Order: sequence, then structure tokens, then C-alpha cells
Amino acid sequence: MPEQLSPELVALRQRCQDFAQQQMLPLAGLDSAETRSQIRQASKAAGLFELTQPGTGSTTSQLALCVARETLAASNPPELDAVFGPSPGVLGSVGEPLASSHLGPLLAGEKRGSFGFTEPDNVQPTAGVIQGDNLVITGQKSYVTGGADADFINALVRIEDHGPSMVVIDTNIDGVILDKRFNSLDGSHHAAFRFEQAVVPLSHVIGELGQGLPKALGQIGDVRLLFAAQACGYMIWVMDLLQSHLQRPDKSGAPRGDKDVVRWHYANLRIKAFAARSMLYRTARLADQGENIVNEGMACKVFATEGVGEAVDTAIQLVGGEALIDDHPLAHLYKKVRAWRLAEGASDLLRLNIGRGILELGKGRI
Ligand SMILES: Cc1cc2nc3c(=O)[nH]c(=O)nc-3n(C[C@H](O)[C@H](O)[C@H](O)COP(=O)(O)OP(=O)(O)OC[C@H]3O[C@@H](n4cnc5c(N)ncnc54)[C@H](O)[C@@H]3O)c2cc1C
Repeated sequence: MPEQLSPELVALRQRCQDFAQQQMLPLAGLDSAETRSQIRQASKAAGLFELTQPGTGSTTSQLALCVARETLAASNPPELDAVFGPSPGVLGSVGEPLASSHLGPLLAGEKRGSFGFTEPDNVQPTAGVIQGDNLVITGQKSYVTGGADADFINALVRIEDHGPSMVVIDTNIDGVILDKRFNSLDGSHHAAFRFEQAVVPLSHVIGELGQGLPKALGQIGDVRLLFAAQACGYMIWVMDLLQSHLQRPDKSGAPRGDKDVVRWHYANLRIKAFAARSMLYRTARLADQGENIVNEGMACKVFATEGVGEAVDTAIQLVGGEALIDDHPLAHLYKKVRAWRLAEGASDLLRLNIGRGILELGKGRI
């Protein structure tokens, strides 16, 4: 539970809270690129930047990452992602040559990576054929976040005779075509790519041939818990905003929260926020003990992202029309959180997987 943290994690939480208040909130409203650059610099100085990078000791536990993300989000600061350095993701355990050519530069901020998993409907899966020391790749990826500015894509490719494998594809080589750059409601940008006989060295396969799916799903699983942590943080922010709103008087002079129906909505959100945080902390602790948390991670992500969606939506209803004015923080948050019920796994599909986990594989706790 959030109440039973070690002294180190309590200190980390305080550090994150101070960082959000002192270094991030004053930048709200400034140009996004400038804000990101200032936050990155400040976060390096505060020792938060490297939390997501390897070799930083005990503070990189899942619980620590969840505490950090949740606490930062609870202040609803601008450009939250800029606090953390690029994490290794699927490149985590690569040897040479990828360690020097891609992992090192990624962690140092010299190269940008992206993740190519999703494909457009009604196309053949992205496929690779081995020719000598090379892989010849054909296919499409449809929703590569940050892909238009990325130096490489870690892409899932079905390799003939071997099966799905993760492959590092540089974006500047012949045959890699940026079809489209587009933005989504939450403010992030993405790219659609086409591969036409793109030739990649076989040494760009991450890990064993045919072992790409567990690697890709492993990365997605880690990110899901962090999505849940972030969603919990924003729920805390919404609860705080509502508390002060409901304690203020309305036109009649009585506190807004005196009305039963308003109180009912507010209590309902608090129950969900409490449950979401309890799930998150339990699951992060299980992960740190080396337990399999695939099902619990999905459950946390579904519950927390749906919970924050409902919290923001209900808060707008209770605050009224003022909350829908363009620069109101609830209006911003409304756009931001909607994407999380699709990104890293649609809620509907995760529910099906949780059902399958227990009914067909005997996996999953309650
Ligand atoms: C902000 C954002 C960032 C993203 N970043 C990336 C990225 O970096 N890399 C990447 O590869 N992808 C990325 N995605 C894509 C994301 O992973 C997909 O949008 C998501 O997995 C859903 O897939 P889809 O869009 O193809 O929709 P579909 O798979 O078509 O699903 C749409 C809906 O159809 C229904 N449905 C689909 N399949 C089933 C089924 N088997 N049974 C029952 N119902 C079903 C569900 O209701 C589901 O919600 C991102 C998406 C967003 C919104």
C-alpha cells in the first residue's frame, strides 16, 4: 500500500512532489519544446532522469517507478514524460553490435527509438526473409509513436521459417518509407511506415530468432503498469480539485458538496481511486518479488485508465461548463487520458486476455 513504503521510497516521493511543484508547474503554458528541454535538464540535476535507465541501483524497482510516476502525475504538471530518460525497452539485454550502435546512443539521448507493433487492418503482417547475412523486410506499421523523429524502430517482424522476431530497423535506410505523420487527441504524434524490401543486417535481430513476441509483450507489460501509475496520479489530482471545488459555496451559499447526488458521484470516484491505487501498489510489489504479473498488470491498466477517464468526465460534469473552456486543466486532461484505454492494449482485448488467462491457462490472482 502507499502507506507502507520504505524510508527511501518516502524520500523519493517527496523529491518527486517537490520537483513537480518547483521545477515543472512554473513552466505550464510555455512552448512545449522549451518546457521539455528545461525539465530534462532539471531532472538530470535532481537525479530523476536516470530512474528509468539501467545501472541506477535499488531505486529502479517497479515500485519506485510507480511511486515516481504517480507522484509527478498527481500535480498534473506539463510534459511529464520529459522527466525520465529513454529506457532500454526491448534492447535491454542486447549484446554487440546493437549495444554500441543503438542501445548506448539511445540511453545517452543521441538516438531516438520507437516501437513498431501495430499494423493496419487488411494487410499482410510485416515479414522478413533471410538472405545471406541480411534480412529483407516488407510490410507496414501503422501507429509508431514518435516514429517520424525516430532514428530507428524496434519492430515485430515475422521471419520466414522462424516466426515473430524483434528487429531494429533504421529509419534512414532505403526501403523504409514514412507514409504519414499524424497526431492523436492526447497531443502525441505518430507515424505510419511502409517497408519495401528494406535490407537490415541479421545482427539487428534482438535476441533469438522467433522469440520476438515474448520480448514485445514484456515491454508492453512494463509500460502498462506505468500507465496505471500515471492514471492513479491523475486520479489523485482530480480528487484534490473536486475536494476544493465541492467545499466552496454555490450561488445559494451552501457548499456544493452538500447535495446528495454530488456527494454520491464524488464518493464513487474516491472508491475507484482507492481501489486502483491498492491494485497498483500490490502489483508493483509482486513484480519486484519476481512474480509473474501479466494478468495483474493488465487488470491495473484497465481499471486505472478507465477510472481516470470516469474521474475526469465526472469532474467536468460537477464543475460545469467552465471546465470545458479550452485551457481549463480538466479539458486538457479529458483529451489526454482517452488514448490510454487503447494504447498498450485496448481495454476490451485486455479483458478477454484476463478471462483467457484464468480459464485456459490457470494464471491470475484476485
Ligand atoms: C496514443 C497511442 C499511442 C500508440 N503508440 C503505439 C506505438 O508506439 N507502437 C505501436 O505499435 N502501436 C501504438 N499504438 C496503437 C495501439 O497499440 C492500438 O491502437 C491498440 O492496440 C488497438 O489496436 P487497433 O487500433 O488496431 O484497434 P483494434 O485492434 O481494431 O481494436 C479496436 C476495437 O475492436 C474490438 N476488438 C478488436 N479485436 C477484438 C477481439 N479479438 N475480440 C473482441 N473485440 C475486439 C475492441 O472493441 C477494440 O477496442 C498507439 C495507440 C495510441 C492511441
